[in-house]
Amino acid sequence: PNITLCDILQERAKQYRDNPALTFYDKVITYGELAHAVEKFASSLQQQGVQKGDRVAIMLPNCPQYVIAYYAILRIGAIVTQVNPMLVERELIHLLTDSGAETIVIYDAVYPRLQAVRDHTPMKRAIVVSFQPSSSHSLDANDVTFEQFLAQGSGNVQPVPIEPEHDVAVLQYTGGTTGRSKGAMLTHRNILANVMQCAEFFKGTYELGKERYFTVIPLFHVFAMTSGMNMAIYVGANNILLPRFELKEVLETIKEKQPTVFPGVPTMYVAITNTPGVEQYGINSIKTCNSGSAPMPLELMREFEAKTGAAVLEGYGLSEASPVTHCNPPFAERKPGTVGIGMPMTEYKIVDVATGTEELKPGEVGELIIRGPQVMKGYWNMPEETAVALRDGWLYTGDLATVDEEGYVTIVDRKKDMIIAGGYNIYPREIEEVLYEHPAVKEAVAIGVPDAYRGETVKAIIVLKDGKQASEEEIIAHCRQNLAAYKVPRMIEFRSELPKTNVGKILRRTLREEALRSK
Ligand code: ATP
Repeated sequence: PNITLCDILQERAKQYRDNPALTFYDKVITYGELAHAVEKFASSLQQQGVQKGDRVAIMLPNCPQYVIAYYAILRIGAIVTQVNPMLVERELIHLLTDSGAETIVIYDAVYPRLQAVRDHTPMKRAIVVSFQPSSSHSLDANDVTFEQFLAQGSGNVQPVPIEPEHDVAVLQYTGGTTGRSKGAMLTHRNILANVMQCAEFFKGTYELGKERYFTVIPLFHVFAMTSGMNMAIYVGANNILLPRFELKEVLETIKEKQPTVFPGVPTMYVAITNTPGVEQYGINSIKTCNSGSAPMPLELMREFEAKTGAAVLEGYGLSEASPVTHCNPPFAERKPGTVGIGMPMTEYKIVDVATGTEELKPGEVGELIIRGPQVMKGYWNMPEETAVALRDGWLYTGDLATVDEEGYVTIVDRKKDMIIAGGYNIYPREIEEVLYEHPAVKEAVAIGVPDAYRGETVKAIIVLKDGKQASEEEIIAHCRQNLAAYKVPRMIEFRSELPKTNVGKILRRTLREEALRSK
């Protein structure tokens, strides 16, 4: 249909005018207020000369201003450019020059970083968000506070024709866990399609106008954008936002506000599961715990469910697909260890890695490829990378996977993470699953490190549970019992924590680089 997410928001504002749309600490914003703020912000952007197709960056932690800015940018046909507030100066220059954004909505704590790099970017104006009214950074010429910017808007948005199939709505830069960050171009149709696919898939688990979402995964990441923010609006929910994952605060919020839907990533489930007394927080108010972004170790899922009484539905997706393509179904068989079946209107198959075309049989490992209305238009400014990722309308995910007779997909590993030792292909994930089964292991990662004789050899890096101990020998003995000899890690390193991206993914690339340097 020829509608956009902004039309959905306007519809919800009519249906649920006085219902809470966003909750941020003790502040509540209703659907009526949200829609009104979006119109004000959108008109203010137009008054500043921002036009259809212009990129407008958002560099904010989760907060109501995020949602207002996002919908306002879409409303005038400009392109939301998602920026992780953790980016360091070099990365920020790359992203701002690559996207060509001239306007940014930015958190005051990171504003000095923008000031430092500004001369190397096309940036013309910043709209600065503060959580404390008293905080007064001295702003550069042309920059304003969020409140000033909102107040300036007439509220009369000049109509902008949008072609949902063609017009880009969001530039979603990939997390960069594997290399240089690329901007996936998601159209208005892509992002609305993914929300509608999820709404259809989860039908029966929610009631319109009744749910409470709890979004603590960051909105600049595509998982939260769709499964947190856009889904919440689509089902007319109250979206409880937190700007960071602070364990105690997360648990207290669950206890007090009793959310019903929680999109999370495995590292969050690790932290929650390992909290003493986690039973007392009433986590089973949550009807749907979604997990995605990275593999959920089986042992972790069992422990989380046993302790909290809440069920986890693991899914899969990627920036290039807005992102959701697979999930374990709420009403059909759930198969732990798999990422479930395809979303409605999503085709997928496993193809031979070498040819990229020959379809493999159930159980055989190959590359997962996907076709559907949520698949991106291409990468911004990167025709060569686009041609590799999109072939004949199919998205090549770069993930190795298998599919079973019933269509359930198991992610084996990323193509790039596979370790080749002595001619054998080793999938780090398989080793990690075994490591997680050891009772003292809290987090674990396996990487390949260069080895003169075998090409690569397996190293495991482990974080132990509080108060638990295990020696290198014990861990290796545990692996020997459960893995073929060639897969057993030759080296074990213990650490107190692992480097992670802002969305909680373990940074294998950083660990590999560190291992290289220490050789
Ligand atoms: P980059 O593409 O630069 O490495 P990124 O991986 O963080 O960055 P995203 O689009 O955020 O980019 O992540 C998508 C990837 O996350 C998938 O291709 C897949 O490897 C992994 N992933 C997502 N969900 C799961 C899951 N349930 N199990 C295993 N892997 C998953």
